[in-house]
Amino acid sequence: MMNTIAVIPGDGVGPEVAREATETVTALGLDLTFDVLDHINADTYLETGVAMSEDDLQRVRRAGGVLFGAVGDPRVSSTGYARDILLRLRFEFDLYVNHRPAALLHDRVSPLRDPARRAIDLVVVRENTEGLYLGVGGVLRGGTKDEVAIDEEVNTYLGVSRILDYAFSVARRSVCMVDKSNAVRHGGQLWQRCWCEAVARRPDVETSHLYVDAAAMNLVADPTRFDVVVTNNSYGDILSDLTAQLAGGIGSAASVNLNPETGFALFEPVHGSAPDIAGKGIANPIGALESAALLLDRHGHSGEARALRDAVRRTVAAGRCTPDLGGTLTTAQAGAAIRAELLATG
Ligand code: ATP
Ligand code: MG
Repeated sequence: MMNTIAVIPGDGVGPEVAREATETVTALGLDLTFDVLDHINADTYLETGVAMSEDDLQRVRRAGGVLFGAVGDPRVSSTGYARDILLRLRFEFDLYVNHRPAALLHDRVSPLRDPARRAIDLVVVRENTEGLYLGVGGVLRGGTKDEVAIDEEVNTYLGVSRILDYAFSVARRSVCMVDKSNAVRHGGQLWQRCWCEAVARRPDVETSHLYVDAAAMNLVADPTRFDVVVTNNSYGDILSDLTAQLAGGIGSAASVNLNPETGFALFEPVHGSAPDIAGKGIANPIGALESAALLLDRHGHSGEARALRDAVRRTVAAGRCTPDLGGTLTTAQAGAAIRAELLATG
């Protein structure tokens, strides 16, 4: 695997948290180098009208993966600019897996009352290239009192089968498939058929199925029962915000967009550019750091990845964290505290 990582810090808190991630990986002294594309942002877009050039894409292609901050700016419509960048990368590299782990940061940040049920440690596997968010559909009689707006959900046999197989490939104990096949008929039946076939291919893994409403309820009632939760694009979007909050908040959640066949991956915090706190230096860097841990895992440094996750948890346990986790540190201080903890333990 190529050891150059393209870095796209982006907008808002993106550059603030991406800096902590690259500094931390650099501090480990591994055989990884960064190609920083810090001109891919809303300023460039407003100046030139182009979010990401052909030359940028070429640089990304030459790298072994992407470390991403966040894109989005109140001055530009997110449906144009931000979608442009993320969807371009997603479809260019066919990153059909969105892998979103949720592991409890610390008891103190759990919203759950029962200590026995706080130890969430699961992965939401979200289908990333189909579903409800493709923009298929249209508007009839737009702007009138008779307007009809239609968004169609796209599910393909190959698309559903490959995301289910990926879910099985990362299962430690079990896979739970989530759909709404009792109400969404056509796609629901396809998911059910693909699920039966995927289950038959992996008789060694424990499996279960839940409708998405029941899944939301069960994830709150007892998240410790889940290992891998696999679902479509829109349900995965929603359920992974829920699991992120159960594990310690949106600022701490990590993700990787991945094509398992080519190995190409884009690592990013689950949160967006957070314009409301951008420039204040108080963004939580843990989502970006946990994303860097996923990068380390995929580049053969799982010992370092584990050490980084442990350092994050010890730092949060000591109350050395940003305001969203109840601390008083700045982004840079929180990042430095985690690096000190990481390097102290080797
Ligand atoms: P997107 O459309 O890109 O998903 P969003 O509109 O959902 O973005 P975010 O940018 O993720 O919103 O922010 C949601 C809320 O979470 C905001 O109040 C923001 O301040 C907060 N938040 C996001 N990231 C962080 C972070 N790293 N540290 C602290 N708070 C954060
Ligand atoms: Mg969001």
